[in-house]
Amino acid sequence: MQGLSLRVRGIVQGVGFRPFVFQLAERHGLAGWVRSTSSQVEIEVEGSGEALAGFLRDLRECAPPPTRIDEIESEDRPASGYGSFEIVEGHFDPGWQSIPPDTATCDACLEETLDPSDRRHRYPFTTCAHCGPRFTIVQELPCDRSRTTMACFEMCEDCRSEYEDPRGRRFHAQAIACPACGPRVWLQWPNGEPVEGDPIDACAALLAGGRIAALKGLGGFQLACDATDAEAVERLRTGKQVYGEPFAVMVPDLDWARRLCEVTPAEIEALKSHERPIVLLRRRPGGGVAEQVAPGSNTLGLMLPQTPLDHLLLRGFDGPLVMTGGNLGEAPIADGNREASERLSATADVFLFHNRDIYARYGASVVRVMGDTAVPIRKARGCAPTPLQLPLSAAQDILAVGGRKKSTFCMVKGSQAVVGPHIGNLENLETLEQYEASLKLFARLLELEPGIIAHDMHPDYPSTHLAHEYPAPSALRVVVQHHHAHVVSAMAEHGVRDPVIGVAYDGTGYGTDGAIWGGEILVADWKSFQRAAHLRYAPLLGGEAAIQKPYRMATGYIWSLCAACEVDFEEYLGRIPIGERILLRRQFETEVNTPPTSSCGRLFDAAAALLGLSTEALYEGQPAVELEAAADPAVDVVYPYDILRDGEGWIIDPAATLRALWCELRAGRPIPTIAAAFHNTVADFTRNVCVAVREKYGLKKVVLSGGCFQNALLTRRILDGLSDDGFEVLTHRVVPPNDGGISLGQAVVAYALTEGI
Ligand SMILES: [Zn+2]
Ligand SMILES: [Zn+2]
Ligand SMILES: [Zn+2]
Repeated sequence: MQGLSLRVRGIVQGVGFRPFVFQLAERHGLAGWVRSTSSQVEIEVEGSGEALAGFLRDLRECAPPPTRIDEIESEDRPASGYGSFEIVEGHFDPGWQSIPPDTATCDACLEETLDPSDRRHRYPFTTCAHCGPRFTIVQELPCDRSRTTMACFEMCEDCRSEYEDPRGRRFHAQAIACPACGPRVWLQWPNGEPVEGDPIDACAALLAGGRIAALKGLGGFQLACDATDAEAVERLRTGKQVYGEPFAVMVPDLDWARRLCEVTPAEIEALKSHERPIVLLRRRPGGGVAEQVAPGSNTLGLMLPQTPLDHLLLRGFDGPLVMTGGNLGEAPIADGNREASERLSATADVFLFHNRDIYARYGASVVRVMGDTAVPIRKARGCAPTPLQLPLSAAQDILAVGGRKKSTFCMVKGSQAVVGPHIGNLENLETLEQYEASLKLFARLLELEPGIIAHDMHPDYPSTHLAHEYPAPSALRVVVQHHHAHVVSAMAEHGVRDPVIGVAYDGTGYGTDGAIWGGEILVADWKSFQRAAHLRYAPLLGGEAAIQKPYRMATGYIWSLCAACEVDFEEYLGRIPIGERILLRRQFETEVNTPPTSSCGRLFDAAAALLGLSTEALYEGQPAVELEAAADPAVDVVYPYDILRDGEGWIIDPAATLRALWCELRAGRPIPTIAAAFHNTVADFTRNVCVAVREKYGLKKVVLSGGCFQNALLTRRILDGLSDDGFEVLTHRVVPPNDGGISLGQAVVAYALTEGI
């Protein structure tokens, strides 16, 4: 007889891990106990050496999702003669606790839901310890039914016996429910009158008839319509007041995904993952989805059903459904029945309600597979909060408030970081309120008492104000430059502390010189950075307005960088209405509301505008999405550019690139060729600058961060170029490359600046 004492860390709380350990111990004939503590699960087991080895192997290899084991600490100890194996009462310290994310319905629960002889047949709230809602219903930690929005549903006899059985799948499954005791769904018209028949089937039939439905989902309301019905999609766009931005589509199963899009094995894995994100896929021509779903894009955001309700609805409908957040414009998603009725009744023809409250509301998560890596674009429902082990130990709690448009916050306690869910554009007042509510919830759940609060350098970001107003008067406020935060966010997720070359290609970020940065190559460590190279400044005519009107960016480039080019841009400029052209020229000359920018995102805007792809950007980054969609990846042409010496560093001048692009267009070269050559050119100058930086600083590691790395073609080209040149290149896997990731970088920079390393 031997004994083992184990400590397991990772996502092991609220995910059915203890009953899994219990069953595993019984299977191997071991005695002992398992219990949860705030930060880990502790196990003592004893038995023969062979049985212990088998137990340890299965523990590592067989834990069902969403369990994620990051670390097992194991220690031999003498056997104490336990008679059996037991799950014992947890031990929770105040302070750090993990918050389990919501998880897609597991296969076993789906089978029950579809089995006519099962007591949960067609029950839309079927869950077990391994699947179902967690984060969206938890009010207090540790996660226990009495502290969730399930508390008001008294368990029936049958559910209680499942809840208490450590050999079953529902031992301590906090959201356990059945038709006899749990929440229920109903379908009603906007005037409150019920719709006859089975609510889910009736809803599917109405959707098939071209109606728009508001559905109460896991993290808030969703609006749904038939994705093949152009008229319904158009009506949904008008009602939701969202015009260019693509809608996501939910399909019943993988066969449907393959019918609509080209999917690689890595993309199938991403679709099937228990986070159930929207996966951006290459659209198959003639797949049948209406053009209005994702106008101008060759990609489609697909997802598989996440909840039993989704499964039942999609099976009833048997086709692709547009599934988009139940909000209008940029307001947050509605989460209450009454709120949804009030806000959505002009858009939705019918409401599928249920009576389980949503405690925390979040939109869907989005990933894009690049190579074999699923790169997060937006982390919300299903994959947030994101826990992360950092190679540091903070003496004080740290709060980092993120950016502006794709805002998240990050909290650090000791060596643990949690990045909160994507919330949205903080310039929308209601979104800001939701951000504050979410921040408050996390601070309470994690008992955060920040001694350090990190924020962006931009003086007017709502998050900057929030950092100053946060009720911790003695906390030290630390300013972090936007692109430094980007680069360090990528370093932190890879556990890298030594200096790297950081390529930060981005939309906008406030620079140390007051200009708008975004085409930056930094030499950075956690504490500081040097601006080794950047894109040459071009005027942002009219400030933010230039983002919505990409031709303004092209005009700014023509007048500034390309002024000396012996190329006739008159034809291009002639397309701008004369009144606006005069106004822009005045702005250009007086520099009123016209900050200089080195943004790489804006360079993409200018290129797309010159090619006539985007006259108006209905959402930030749309021109780049269209430029990528247009590009023919087989083309390997590179356009010229200049790299100029600037004191200690370099300036990348893309004037020759834009000139070449315009001449090629006028010479009748096809747009797919030009669009690809533009991507290749950006990759080419990136590589050349990185080589120069490597020679000067002796650095071989490059990290890629910033919103431009949502562009798969650009990412692949830069990655391939740098790898060919012998660089070690690190990209994002845990937090998004866009501003959804910067809170993590801010927290780590603030730590390095205040506590030193
Ligand atoms: Zn399940
Ligand atoms: Zn029940
Ligand atoms: Zn950024």
